[in-house]
Formats: sequence, structure tokens, C-alpha cells
Amino acid sequence: MFRFQENDRMEIRLSCGFGCGKSGSPRTDCPSEVQRKESQGEEMKYILQVFTGSWNQANVQPEEIIRTIEETASLIPVEKVIIGWNTDPSVYRKTGQFLHESGIRMLLWLPVFAEIGEIAGQDEALDLFGKNVPSPAGTGAENFRFGCISSRNNTRLVMDVFEKFFSGCGFDGVFLDRIRSQSFVSGIPGVLSCGCERCRKAFLERGSDLDQVRRRYEESGDAFFDAETFPMNGEFILRDPLAQRFFDVKEELIADAVNEIVCDFRNRGMTVGLDLFAPVVSRFVGQKYSKIAKNADFIKPMLYRRTEAPAGIGYEYSLFRKCLPGAKGWRNQLPGDRAFLNTQLEAIRSAPCPGYPGIEINYDEQLVRTDADYLKESLDAIRAYGFEGAALCWDIMRAPPSHIQSIRDMG
Ligand SMILES: [Zn+2]
Repeated sequence: MFRFQENDRMEIRLSCGFGCGKSGSPRTDCPSEVQRKESQGEEMKYILQVFTGSWNQANVQPEEIIRTIEETASLIPVEKVIIGWNTDPSVYRKTGQFLHESGIRMLLWLPVFAEIGEIAGQDEALDLFGKNVPSPAGTGAENFRFGCISSRNNTRLVMDVFEKFFSGCGFDGVFLDRIRSQSFVSGIPGVLSCGCERCRKAFLERGSDLDQVRRRYEESGDAFFDAETFPMNGEFILRDPLAQRFFDVKEELIADAVNEIVCDFRNRGMTVGLDLFAPVVSRFVGQKYSKIAKNADFIKPMLYRRTEAPAGIGYEYSLFRKCLPGAKGWRNQLPGDRAFLNTQLEAIRSAPCPGYPGIEINYDEQLVRTDADYLKESLDAIRAYGFEGAALCWDIMRAPPSHIQSIRDMG
């Protein structure tokens, strides 16, 4: 069935009406063909993110949200708003009514492998040593404890949570966050996961014996992570084939789970976006763009060059080097300049669905020191690569008004 989506974009999609999951096993090949006409010369469109607080922690009123979006949309073209994940439906009903009257689509910001355990029975992730992957200290209100990546229970409960709390709120789609394993914020065990019994079986079926992997890591130490090549698009090749296979299978399992969830939502006629680590660090957490994004409507790679917190590019990479100072074949640190940004945009451009590169719009003295020059540099580069839009992350409610004004002034 063909259907037109997003009336302001020249785009035709083939709906994925394959009844994913009906056979009892996850469908990972649900087709989503995107034929895009190049929109040369069109103005950039923006996606905004609004954090309404965690499940039971409402921290913002709909009137405030509406006022902020209205002010922003009076300055720059807003196409979608990603909002979540507090469970108070009145926030979304009121905000959604305003957005729809304004021709803006509303997507639910929904975490998948973390946080969701607070309101649903999630199977937790274990590391390869059989222990719970620790939740890192200092991550604020957000719970960074991750769930098992091969648990069908974990996959299914995403739709259950949507139906229970959000189905009557007028959402046009969902934006899936935390679709990954833990990163180096929990040290090496975060990345060497999940090692539960279910995953042992799933890895073994795909040619990765987790007992062997664990033993090899114990023998090799940092050298387990020695790289043959490390290009900026993140497509690293490790010297040890056993180590490489582990990462390959991890990203296959995550992609299978994500594709199953994506198809479930798309079969209901909903738009689905994905939150991804920047290409250069994405494969540490099991995100390979060509696999994970094949059925999505769009991806929002987090090109956070100023964020000193999880998902910040330099932050995540420096944790990796700190955990594994002896691993060879890697850079000591990543450059954060425009040339580096270009390498990320180049990689995103080859993803199987449209990309809306995400840049920080918040300002925080400690966590994210953004300024007008940084926004300009980022958006100029995004525009130069021909992307039709960008995402302003990760909370428009905490963006300095001068930041929005400076984007408008760029034209
Ligand atoms: Zn597992």
C-alpha cells in the first residue's frame, strides 16, 4: 500500500504491512523503501525535543511547552516534536492539539532498553562475567540500567507500555531511544554485554561463543580491543576475529529487536524515528546504521560535540580510552572540529533512511557549553551535506532563546 506521509516532503513510502512477528519469530526484513526526491534549495526543517520528565516525574506544564514551541516555530520551521516520557496523558493531549493545528507532527520519546524497567517487568542485562551491568553514578533522574538485548519480553513490552500509557494521546509516531547496549559509562562490563543465558544461546547460534569471548578478554586484557582499522565512520575491524564477531553479533541482535519494534509501530501507521550514537562511537554500543535503520522513517544521530555526558562523542570516546589505555590501533582522542563533523555527516548520508543530524540546543555550564558559533558551524555543515533537516536536542525547554534567534539569523 502506498501512502503519502509528511505532506510537506516529496516522499513516497512503501508501508510495511507484513504483519511482523505473526510467525512467532521476529521479522527483520520488513521492507521499507524510501524514494526521496532531492530537495535542493529548500529551507531546513527542524525537529524539536521536549523532555517532560521521567515516567512519574512530571516537570513541565503543557502551557509552557506550547508557549516554547510556538515561540520557536515563529522563528524557524518546525516539522516534528519529539516529546516524552512522563505518563501524564493531559500533557500530550493539550500539546498534541496545538501541534496538529500548527501542522507539526508529535512523536513519543520512548526509551527501549533502559528506563522502561521502572514501569514494566524488564529482563535485565548481565555482563559476560555473569554480573548485573552497573548503573553509572551521576546520571541524574534518568536510570541508565540496561535490559537484555535478545529478550522477546523486552521487545514486546515497548508496545505494551505504549498502549497502556500513551495510545490515546494523539501521537503520530514514536522516537525510540536507548536502542543499544550500555556504553563505557559503566566501564568495560557495559560494552561486554549482554551475557545472560538467553544471550549465550543467541550469540552461539550466530557463531559467537560468549565463554570463549570472556576467556579471550581475560587473557588478552586491553589487547582484546586492538584495532586493525578504525575509520571515522565507526566501521572498526578488531585484530582478534573472536572479538570482532562478538561486536558483529551484538549489533545483529539489537538490530533484530529494534526492527521488530519498528515494524510493530509502522504497521499501525505510525512514523518511527531512531536515536543513535554518532557513527564513530555507535558500534561500541551495538548500533550499525545499515542494520538498525533499515525499516525506520528517520534517524537522529547524536552529533554532540559539546556534551560532557552520556552520548557526547568526545565524552564516550575518552571513557573508552580511559578504560582501555593499552588497546592499539585507536586514536588517543577524537578531534571535534568541522572536518571531523563532516566525516560523521558523510557516514550518516549512507544510512538506509533519511537522517536528521542532532545537535545540542541546551546550554549548561558543566554539561553542554553551546554557543552561537557552534550552532552555526554545525548547521552550516548539515546544510552543506544536503540534509533536509536537523534535530535540536535534547530539550528545547532548556534552550537559551538567543540560540534559537541565532539559528533564525542564519537564514
Ligand atoms: Zn541477555
